[in-house]
Amino acid sequence: MKRNYFVLLVVALIILAIGCQKKNEIVTSGPKKSTVSVVKDSSVISFFKSLGFKTNNIVEKDSIYIAEGDISFNKVYVLNQIKKGKTTDEVGRHSYQSLISQNRTNIYVRVAPNIITFANYDNAVREAIRQWNSVTNCRVNLIYTPAGVNMPIDITIQAGDLGTGLCGQGSWPTSGLAGSTVTIDLDETLSLSFPQLIFLLIHEIGHNLGLRHSDITNPPNNVIPGTPVFDANSVMRSATCGFTFVALTQADIDAVRFMYPANSPTLVTQISGPSFAPAFSTLTHISGAFYPCNNYEWRLLNSDEQLLANFTNNCAELTWSGYPSGEYYLECRLTNPENNASTPWNRYYVNLE
Ligand SMILES: [Zn+2]
Repeated sequence: MKRNYFVLLVVALIILAIGCQKKNEIVTSGPKKSTVSVVKDSSVISFFKSLGFKTNNIVEKDSIYIAEGDISFNKVYVLNQIKKGKTTDEVGRHSYQSLISQNRTNIYVRVAPNIITFANYDNAVREAIRQWNSVTNCRVNLIYTPAGVNMPIDITIQAGDLGTGLCGQGSWPTSGLAGSTVTIDLDETLSLSFPQLIFLLIHEIGHNLGLRHSDITNPPNNVIPGTPVFDANSVMRSATCGFTFVALTQADIDAVRFMYPANSPTLVTQISGPSFAPAFSTLTHISGAFYPCNNYEWRLLNSDEQLLANFTNNCAELTWSGYPSGEYYLECRLTNPENNASTPWNRYYVNLE
């Protein structure tokens, strides 16, 4: 995500007006020097053009190509796709195809050690996850996965140097999997407020889910029905670093829901409750509104994925208490008592304080 330089100018003038302020210095790991060059290879340009991306500023940097400023692609993947003559399984908001395989309902997200120590960034990741998961009738279920939990990780949120003016960078889904990294430039984002960090993380994770910038009007083909040409408050607008998150717009919701409709039978396990909950808390979920109570099974696991409890009260309000502080997984699945079929467990991460 690029900065909006008008906002920067205003901020700069304010800082000048109120005098010198100390700039926090953060040392990010990894080499500072990378070679960035504009792509001239016509086959690579054609590949991006076939996906509907703007082609005037595709750049290559180390092992990635970058389109539209902050959407990175694995170079080996792109070159393999070109070799196979295959360019059509990559689509974004303007498309009718899903990028992440049908059986990938749970997408595990981890915050890398070089960023998790900054509590506001870590909490912003959790809130970004909660916001995307709040879209009902959509099968994308992002799961915050704490360090030490032995799960294959789909998306790693990491700190890295993206150069001046670039706050964050998502990566494009490949081979049926969500984009593997979101990189946040700490130097560029230290002054952001918590709601601004949330906006940034929702935006970049959106790229990893295959959402393009919502204000790209060229080409206008395959627009998702109902999404407007201009969606002023969309979290997927370009050049929005520094924007404050308020809510997903209806078009943001329509877009991700259109790309990833809920698997059949519909399992909606949106649990309304804080990721950080006091012990003895009551969490409510809306799943019971869609099916009778006895169609749901709930269970609680500890962070080592050991089963602690199967809940017997599976109605829309679930009370669980008596567990010590710590990290837990609350899981739900939909069952059909008539044929003993059930969906995979859907997971929600809870940190009891
Ligand atoms: Zn972007």
